Amino acid sequence: MFNALVVNKDDEGKTQAAVSQIGLDDLPAGEVTVAVEYSTVNYKDGLCIGPGGGLVRNYPHVPGIDFAGTVETSEDSRYKAGDKVVLTGWRVGESHWGGYSQKARVNADWLVPLPSALSTKQAMAVGTAGFTAMLAVMALEDHGIKDGPVLVTGAAGGVGSVATAILAQLGHEVAAVTGRPETADYLTGLGATQIVAREELNETTKRPLEAESWGGCVDAVGGEMLARLLGQIKYGGSVAAVGLAGGAGLPATVIPFLLRGVNLLGIDSVMQPYESRLRAWERIAKDLPLEKLETMIQPAGLSDLPQLGRDILKGQVKGRVVVDVNA
Ligand code: NDP
Repeated sequence: MFNALVVNKDDEGKTQAAVSQIGLDDLPAGEVTVAVEYSTVNYKDGLCIGPGGGLVRNYPHVPGIDFAGTVETSEDSRYKAGDKVVLTGWRVGESHWGGYSQKARVNADWLVPLPSALSTKQAMAVGTAGFTAMLAVMALEDHGIKDGPVLVTGAAGGVGSVATAILAQLGHEVAAVTGRPETADYLTGLGATQIVAREELNETTKRPLEAESWGGCVDAVGGEMLARLLGQIKYGGSVAAVGLAGGAGLPATVIPFLLRGVNLLGIDSVMQPYESRLRAWERIAKDLPLEKLETMIQPAGLSDLPQLGRDILKGQVKGRVVVDVNA
């Protein structure tokens, strides 16, 4: 038997999450059984742990949309016992039991071998948020990052923190947008050269185009902020849209696309094919300074997760929560 955070639904439809003992026979079918070492807390995890149940279809459920650990048994020739692996996406933690467990069983296709430069703990300090940040940076590179600062919104959150550190390491100026002025030193430490107050971009304007200020953008916020910043991107520049922490609506005009050739690039980390995941993890190992990654980590154990799930939905988590499932 081993520990897992199990979410159940009672007769009145209310969900409750608690650390429980489960066995190997309880795990869903899959080709590879992994001794999980670390998982993380992402926005989606907050939804899956929370009272509404969010994205979960069947109960009982073990959330945790990502994990890193060591292969215990494998029916797939690509993996053998002792291999270090990392998993993000593929609806693990949503429709398939996830990483908030000392053991997980998954399809071999969903795993990636962990780059040798990263420990399982570092991999989860990156986690889904950091992996997505790398995908966003790669998408911007594919379309060409223009001169001038690259804007990162929701900068003190998970995606924003990792995007800031990677872009700075690659030699870009980074303008970090945050609603928490107290995180300015943290963001400067990650390499941000400019701190932009959230209110500056939340103020609505009737002007569809403003001064061309940013060479590109990684946007974790969406909503009105995304609509506003589209009109501030340099001619031919791109915005990698990652999240909707500030809302799912997009009250924008087509003018930035028509008159400035701005590209809006949608980033989805969930259904990334194997080759693309491998490429992104290799870039993370190469381009993310590990000493900066250390400053993002907030350690946690399985029993901390119900509270952390609530915190992340309120936008109150700084950097990356790394869950040691064996703590
Ligand atoms: P976090 O909660 O760690 O960070 C989000 C940040 O956004 C907050 O820290 C805060 O930053 C800012 N923020 C929160 N609420 C608001 C608001 N109302 N208005 C403006 N800014 C706000 O989440 P993650 O970084 O993990 O994820 C960010 C988004 O990306 C989420 O929507 C998530 O679902 C999505 N996502 C998408 C993925 C994909 O595959 N496309 C993968 C992973 C995440 P600050 O305090 O600095 O202002």
